[in-house]
Amino acid sequence: MLGRLADKISLRHQISLFAGAVGLSIVAASTLGSALLARGQATDMAQNALLQVARSVADRLDQDMAERLREIRNVAALDPLQPHWMEETGSLRKVLQTMQKTLPDYAWIGFADETGKVRAATGGILEGANVGQRPWFIDGMKGAVAEDVHVAALLQSLLKPSGDKTPFRFVDFASPVTDASGRIIGVLGSHLSWSWADVVRREVLSSRRPELKEEIVVLDRTGRVLLGPDLGTTPYSPADLAAGHFIASGPDGKRLAAVSATRGRGDYSGLGWIVVALQPEDTALAGANRLTLLITLIGLGAGAVGVLGIFLVVTRLSRPLVNLTDAVDRIGREPNATMTERVHGSPEVLRLSAAVRSLLRRIGTAESDARDVETEASRAVQAAQDRVRRIGDDLHALQLIANKDALTGLLNRRAFLPLAKEALNAFKLYRRPIAVLMIDIDHFKRVNDRYGHPAGDVVIRKVGSIISDTIRTTDKVARFGGEEFIVLLGDSSAVGAALIAERIRQSVASTVFEPDNNRLLATISIGIAEADSSDKDIDHTIERADRALYEAKSRGRNCIHTFTADIADLRSVA
Ligand code: GH3
Ligand code: MG
Ligand code: MG
Repeated sequence: MLGRLADKISLRHQISLFAGAVGLSIVAASTLGSALLARGQATDMAQNALLQVARSVADRLDQDMAERLREIRNVAALDPLQPHWMEETGSLRKVLQTMQKTLPDYAWIGFADETGKVRAATGGILEGANVGQRPWFIDGMKGAVAEDVHVAALLQSLLKPSGDKTPFRFVDFASPVTDASGRIIGVLGSHLSWSWADVVRREVLSSRRPELKEEIVVLDRTGRVLLGPDLGTTPYSPADLAAGHFIASGPDGKRLAAVSATRGRGDYSGLGWIVVALQPEDTALAGANRLTLLITLIGLGAGAVGVLGIFLVVTRLSRPLVNLTDAVDRIGREPNATMTERVHGSPEVLRLSAAVRSLLRRIGTAESDARDVETEASRAVQAAQDRVRRIGDDLHALQLIANKDALTGLLNRRAFLPLAKEALNAFKLYRRPIAVLMIDIDHFKRVNDRYGHPAGDVVIRKVGSIISDTIRTTDKVARFGGEEFIVLLGDSSAVGAALIAERIRQSVASTVFEPDNNRLLATISIGIAEADSSDKDIDHTIERADRALYEAKSRGRNCIHTFTADIADLRSVA
């Protein structure tokens, strides 16, 4: 199947196709390899960058949290404030409000005595209220503490609502306040608005190029979203978060993610927040994809140029072979072509061309030898055929001579008898009558005696020609001997034969023979006999005709006589 297909595709197309396939495979392999490499590298780079982003957010959060904690502890331990904690609530409020002014992210700062009653607070908010059950107060009685993000409880209705009406969320800081003897007399607490973290997030993101489409999400220690879209959900598995980087799948497609945990700083031991920096995978890999496209295009271009080049080279290489094939093919078709041109192109083609030429030379020699042998043989055959024909002609001539009477040109006795025998056989088969005439010149001895032998010959010849002129061409006449003739009449009864015999007799009798300026007359006698079915052979018929001739002679010559039974009786009596 493959072999038959290959027979239909020219060598240069096969090589070009093969080279094209190899080229395409190389392009595909190198493109795939470099695409994988580029993607891997781009992913690594993007994730490193994301990790930096996440870490800088985590560091900022840690730093700010540590500062806030230090701040609240320092203020709680300020000596000049000692007299004001329990007595001068107005002065204390002023101090606290000054603190709030320096950092507007403080939503509330207040001091509660050891019973949990708020004695002084920014804006006087919650003063007189009891916060003894609030975690920051309970923990703050034990030591400086930072409390995790929570929704405002008591303050929600007391603070000026935020622009987007979302509930207030705070991070609480608290530190115990002691009197001069070191006894804890209450807790200084602050509520830091969680929007502070969003500012941090925005600041870090604004330092990045917006086209990177990076996003930052902050999770609490359990993985729940504290900052970012889908607040309160746990979008990432603990395993992904533990891995440090992962690919997050969402409705907007895949995103690369890098994780950095906050670690706390100094006295602030951290709240276990986890910062996740994200970037759409498409964006992260855009550069790599562009590179892959470029490599593919360059590869395809190089492949196409390569295939074209190979096609041209193969065409050039195969041209001498095609020429040589055409030349050899011409020799097969054209009878006059016997030798190819010498074909150039490469040493191999030159050798092939030389080999073909030497082969053709040998074939040419063999052909010419074969032609010579053929010519010689046909000449010999021609000569043999000529000889055979000549011998045949000679034989025919000899036969004619042998069958002919030299003097009259009529058949001789030897040639006549077989014909007469055949006629008798035919008569026996088909019952068609035949008759025999025996003719003898009367007193011929006298002619010889009186006019000479040559004159006698003239008379014999003339009588012969009179007989053959009178009978039909289908009848046979022969000189039977001396001055005797015999005639075989086909399709003839004794009566018909008598008519012909009479015509011959009259013709001879009325002829004036003129040998050697002499003029003389001659007569003939004719005996007639019909063939009989009892005749064993023609000799019997001839014998009867001979006896009838004898009878004609006896009856005075110059007459005809037909054999009858009477004659036979007569003869037997005689
Ligand atoms: P009849 O009427 O009884 O036949 O008499 P005839 O003289 O013809 O009879 P015969 O048979 O005795 O003579 C025949 C002669 O014919 C004898 C011979 O010399 C002669 N003769 C035979 N052959 C030739 C020949 O070829 N040429 C010549 N010129 N004469 C021949
Ligand atoms: Mg005679
Ligand atoms: Mg005679």
